[in-house]
Amino acid sequence: MELYTEAGNLKNLTQLLLKKYNAFLEVSSSDAISIESIINSIDKYYEDIIGCMAGNIYWFDKHCRTVGCNKNVLAMFGLQSVENFKGLSFEELGKIGGWTLEATQSFKNDTLEILQTGKPKLNIEEPPIPHEDGRVIYFLSSRVPLFNYKNDVIGVVGVSIDITERHQAEKALKKAKLEAEAASYAKTEFISNMSHDIKTPLSGIIGLADVLMHRLEQKEDIDFAENIINAGQQLMVFFDNCLEIGKAETSNLNLANEYFSLKSVTQELYDLFLPAIKKKSLEFYLFQDDKVPDYLLGSRSGIYRILMNLIGNAIKFTDTGSITLRIELGEKSTSKNTIIKIIVKDTGIGIPVDKHQLIFERFIRLTPSSNNLYSGSGLGLYLVQKMVESMHGEIHLSSAEGKGSQFTVVLPFVVPLLTSQEYKQSEITSLVSLPAFSDNIFRAKDRKTSPCILLVEDNILAQKIAYSMLTSLQCRVDIADCGQKAKELFTPGKYDLIFMDLGLPDMSGQNITRYFREIEKDTSHSIPIIVLSAHTTIDLKKSCIEHGANEVHNKPLSKIQAKSIIDYYLTKS
Ligand code: ADP
Repeated sequence: MELYTEAGNLKNLTQLLLKKYNAFLEVSSSDAISIESIINSIDKYYEDIIGCMAGNIYWFDKHCRTVGCNKNVLAMFGLQSVENFKGLSFEELGKIGGWTLEATQSFKNDTLEILQTGKPKLNIEEPPIPHEDGRVIYFLSSRVPLFNYKNDVIGVVGVSIDITERHQAEKALKKAKLEAEAASYAKTEFISNMSHDIKTPLSGIIGLADVLMHRLEQKEDIDFAENIINAGQQLMVFFDNCLEIGKAETSNLNLANEYFSLKSVTQELYDLFLPAIKKKSLEFYLFQDDKVPDYLLGSRSGIYRILMNLIGNAIKFTDTGSITLRIELGEKSTSKNTIIKIIVKDTGIGIPVDKHQLIFERFIRLTPSSNNLYSGSGLGLYLVQKMVESMHGEIHLSSAEGKGSQFTVVLPFVVPLLTSQEYKQSEITSLVSLPAFSDNIFRAKDRKTSPCILLVEDNILAQKIAYSMLTSLQCRVDIADCGQKAKELFTPGKYDLIFMDLGLPDMSGQNITRYFREIEKDTSHSIPIIVLSAHTTIDLKKSCIEHGANEVHNKPLSKIQAKSIIDYYLTKS
C-alpha cells in the first residue's frame, strides 16, 4: 500500500518491489540485477512504444510533476531524453516551453481539477498557448486521471494534438466566409438599390405613356404609346428577374405564406398583360374551375411570379392565335389541402423536344438577341422552376417546334379557415381587383360631387402621372410632397381616398398612415389609404397593413387599376 502511494512511476515502483523481493528471498546481487534488467527491458519496451506515438503524450504524478512523455513532447521542449523531462513542475515546463504565465497557470489548473475530481476531460480545445517568440499554438487535448489499486487518483495522463494549422485554416475560412457574405450582401444591396433607382423612373415612363394613351386619338399614336408601355413592362420584368436571381442563388426567395385570392392574382396579371395581348391581336382565354377555392394559404408572390413569367413568354413567343390560362383542381385535393393545376397554353413557335430540359437552365435562350426576334434574359424559366421547387410543386412542359407550348404547374396549397378579420382583409384585396369595368366611372349613383383624393408623393414625375390619371377620372386631387404637408392638408372627412407613397423625404408613408389613423380614432371616419410602392414585398405589405393601410399596390398604377380602386371604395361608401 505504501509502495503504491510513494511510487510516482512504474520504474520507481519496480525498483522498490525488487529491493523488497530480493531482501525477502536473499538472492545474490547478480540474480537481482538480471530480474531488474528484465523489468527494465519491459519498461523500455512500453516507453519506446509510447515514445513514437503521434501527438504529444505526457503524464504527471499527483503533485503535478512530470513523470514521462513521448518523443514529440521532448522535441517540443528541445530536451534530449525523458530523464530531462522527469520531475518538472508546471512553472519549469512553462519556462522551458516559453509559455506565458497565464497559459502555464491555465494548464496547471486544468490538471489540478482532474486530480481533484477524478473526471477525465476529453477533446477539449485548449485556450491558445502564446509563446514568448510571438507564436500562438492551439492544442486539442484529452486528459484522463490515473488510479491506483484503491481507486485513488495518482496522476494524470494527457494526449494533445497540435491543431494550429487547422485553426489557422478555419480562421482563414471564417474570414473568407464573412468577406464573401459581406460582398454578397453589398451586391444584393447594390442590385436592389440600382433596380429601385431604375424602376422608379421607368414606372414614370410607363405611367406617362398610359396617361398619353388614354388622351390620344390617332390609332398610330395610340400604337406608339402602347409600344412604350410594352417595352417598359419588359424592362420591369427583367429587373424583377435580376433581383430574384440573386435571392434564388442564396435559396432565399422569401416565399412567405399569406392568405390570398387566386382571382385577384389572375386579374392583376390580366391588367398587366392586356396592352401586350391587344398589341399582338391575340385572343386570351381564362378558365377557372368553380371547384377551385378562391382563398388560399400559400405564397401569393410565388404564384404571381410563376404566372407572370409563363404568360409573358406565351405572349412573347406567339404571333398569331391565342393564349389560354386554365386553373383546375388537381387530383388528391381535400377540403383542407388543395392541389392547384395551372396550365398556360399558347399557339406560338413551340419548343423542340430535345430542348425541353435546356430551357430551364440559367441564361439559356433558343433565339439569341442578335436575331432581333424575341428579347429576353434566359432567367425566367430558371426562376419559375426554383419557385415551383420552393413551393413543393412540379412543372411539366409539352411542346414541339411549330406546335405551340403548354406549361403545366401543379402546386399544393392549404385552404384557409379564415377568421372573420382575416377574411375581411382578404376580401378587400380581392374585390378591389375584380370589379367589372363599367363605362360609368363611378357607380355610386348618389355621388353629387367628384371624389376628392389626397396624393402623397414626392417624385415630380410620379406626381404628374397620378395627377393626370386621377383628374381624367374626374377626381379632384391635392398633392402633398412630404409628410409634413400631408399632415397639414389632412383632416378627417375632407378626402375620399389617399394614395400614399412610402419613401418621403421627411417621414415614411407607414408613419403618416399611422398618424392619420390616430387622428381618425375618435371620429366616425376611416379613409381608404392605398400605398403605392416600386417594389412590394410580403414584409413591406404586412408592415403597411399593420400601420393602417387598406392595400399595397405596385407602381405604376395603371388607369384601369386606379379606376377600379376608386370605384370599389367609393361605391362601398
Ligand atoms: P427569356 O424568355 O427571358 O429568354 P426564359 O428562361 O423565360 O427566358 O425562357 C428560356 C427560353 O425558352 C426562351 O428564350 C425561349 O427560347 C424558350 N421559351 C420559353 N417559353 C416559351 C414559349 N412559350 N414558347 C416558345 N419558346 C419558349
